[in-house]
Amino acid sequence: MDFQNTREFAQQLDAQDELSHYRNEFIFPKVNGKQVIYFTGNSLGLQPKRTKAYVDEVMNDWANLAVEGHFYADKPWWDYQERFCQPLSEIVGAKPSEVSVMNTLTVNLHLLMVSFYKPTPKKYKIICEEKAFPSDQYMFQSQVHFHGLNPEDTIVEIKRREGEHNIRLEDVLAKIDEVGDELALVLIGGVNYYTGQVFDIKTITEAGHKYGAYVGWDLAHAAGNIELKLNEWKVDFAAWCSYKYMNSGPGNASGYFVHESHHNDLDLPRFAGWWGHNKERRFLMEPNFDPARNAEGWQISNLPILSLAPYLASVHMFAEVGMQKLIKKRNLITAYLEYILHEIDKEVDSTFEIITPANQEERACQLSVFLHGEGRSLFDYLMKNGVITDWREPNVIRLAPVPLYTSFEDMYEFGQVLKTGIQSLH
Ligand SMILES: *Cc1c(COP(=O)(O)O)cnc(C)c1O
Repeated sequence: MDFQNTREFAQQLDAQDELSHYRNEFIFPKVNGKQVIYFTGNSLGLQPKRTKAYVDEVMNDWANLAVEGHFYADKPWWDYQERFCQPLSEIVGAKPSEVSVMNTLTVNLHLLMVSFYKPTPKKYKIICEEKAFPSDQYMFQSQVHFHGLNPEDTIVEIKRREGEHNIRLEDVLAKIDEVGDELALVLIGGVNYYTGQVFDIKTITEAGHKYGAYVGWDLAHAAGNIELKLNEWKVDFAAWCSYKYMNSGPGNASGYFVHESHHNDLDLPRFAGWWGHNKERRFLMEPNFDPARNAEGWQISNLPILSLAPYLASVHMFAEVGMQKLIKKRNLITAYLEYILHEIDKEVDSTFEIITPANQEERACQLSVFLHGEGRSLFDYLMKNGVITDWREPNVIRLAPVPLYTSFEDMYEFGQVLKTGIQSLH
């Protein structure tokens, strides 16, 4: 499509956008009395208006039913989490039996590593990406220590080539071949949080399996953002937070996936609790653990229903919209934002560089922009003028035009603020 950097053109794209009405489903903060341009849905999604009713429902059930709410609420609490299986399975390309919700993301990855990281003297190495999200790095180090191993010899990072911002698929595959039979686990962020690069989950998962390793994915920036087919790709396990693209509220619960091929494997070590016990017999209070033969077999505690309520509101919205429409708009609006950035770059003598892959197959809903010149002062200018973005050291702002609630006119408007900002700082 031939884009134009005008308000009229942006408005025309909004008029043709079949998801445009979802914008009204969200609550936008205001700066200087004006609704902000929100680019940080990859960090904390906006609050959907419908969420409050889901939370109120639980509060009312608690008030009116107290303990009886476990079984007699409209959405009984004892199996509240089952309401996620169908809609979540559609979002991540799984069978409903392969997904559930509990805890928060890093906690779930730790728990899944209990099952899927079982080092032996000959097979103990972990492959991850260079500069993984810090929480993942700490997790790897502590897991490796827990097993009495040395992180330096155990954790193998895939590096970027000199002068490049993104990791090449061929280098991931070469590293897997190099580690070979010593490889116990591959665990990578499906979408890199810093650059927005999307990894080829299918190919990398296959490559890890060739050496008998387990392959898991941190899908924090992928769930609700990219097309996933976790079942078909034979991913062993995955987890994601719900407060980024899934709009469930600060610090909220994590979704997770365990491939069906592992559901009946009772030899896999796991940390058990009563919520992972065979559902039919959970309240018989039997002494021996009999895990549910699905993803719920990895549950431990009864669930924080007040946290799950906003997440349920969110997955219901995603079920209405469907990932396909979301991805279609995502590609168009991200391309429009990219165009706007290049146009502004030409109009003013600026020196910024988009470090996210230009290839649509290797990116999703985020453009990371390296500010060579203006740096932090330009970021501050944007924030003061109603453009909410975030700053990542040393010199990067991340822009995520979330398809559910950003508009094409936002992109145009952002370009104007950016231009004025750069000119005023020169
Ligand atoms: C946001 C993010 C996390 C956050 O983990 P929490 O346990 O929810 O605090 C972890 N990993 C990645 C890749 C992330 O982007």
